[in-house]
Amino acid sequence: MSSPHTDVSPLLEAAGHQPLPLHGRVAIVTGGAGGIGAVVSSHLASLGARVVVSYIGDPVPAEQLAASLNGAVAVCADVSDAAQVEGLFDAAEAAFGPEIHILVAAAGVQDAAYPAIADTEPEQWERAFAVNARGTFLCCRQAARRLVRGGRGRIVTFSSSNVASLRPGYGAYVATKAAVEAMTKVLAKELAGTGITANSVAPGPVATPMFYAGKSEERVKAVASECPMKRIGEPTDVAPVVGFLCSDAAGWINGQVIRVNGGYV
Ligand code: NAD
Repeated sequence: MSSPHTDVSPLLEAAGHQPLPLHGRVAIVTGGAGGIGAVVSSHLASLGARVVVSYIGDPVPAEQLAASLNGAVAVCADVSDAAQVEGLFDAAEAAFGPEIHILVAAAGVQDAAYPAIADTEPEQWERAFAVNARGTFLCCRQAARRLVRGGRGRIVTFSSSNVASLRPGYGAYVATKAAVEAMTKVLAKELAGTGITANSVAPGPVATPMFYAGKSEERVKAVASECPMKRIGEPTDVAPVVGFLCSDAAGWINGQVIRVNGGYV
């Protein structure tokens, strides 16, 4: 909950202004500098949140994005590393104070191609699980310990429509996302009494570096033609759904998987 000393919403309302839905909230977005996560970072900031753009690798895009968003900061953290995830939450507190309201766990990996299960090497399975399953778990674990109680805490994880489509050849990736969905639902029940909700967003094919990796132009067109709406999604199709789940209006949506896929499955 915002401190009565920092929450100017009642003053704005009294003056006839509609406060932004996430005014005063602090949001950590993992994978927050690339693909869908970057658009989520921008969208949450446009709704009034102070965003921690969490990234791995090259700091320049993350720092440029954070500098373009009102009051955002960029923090490097490998989500598969427990100490770095703890450090990410510490950095959010150092930047914005002890109240953290929102975790969006968008960081993820998908290899350009996965073989059938029979041909999947344990290392490929483990690489997918390290980031997608373990990384999401580590972030959710910190969020469950540290997000504000009382109704405004929000956790949004990222699954995939492939969990519903069970596309052959994506077994390792699909298994990680099934784990994310199941863990998110358990977390929602565990936290239900605290006023923190936990939901998962499951996009269909979305135009990001992850989607395009290793795909020919023909393959991209083929995927688009498989979509009932005859186009793949854009990050801007997904970010507003995340923004809604983070808002007060979504306070009674809990433990759900929201499929954002143009009817793909
Ligand atoms: P992307 O590859 O464009 O972005 C993923 C981000 O995760 C990158 O910024 C990357 O740096 C970050 N990341 C990777 N490993 C990390 C680690 N160990 N620690 C911290 N950050 C790490 O992919 P995207 O398409 O934007 O994917 C966002 C989420 O949506 C992912 O969880 C992905 O599985 C899911 N998803 C994407 C699609 C799609 O078609 N694009 C479909 C369904 C689900």
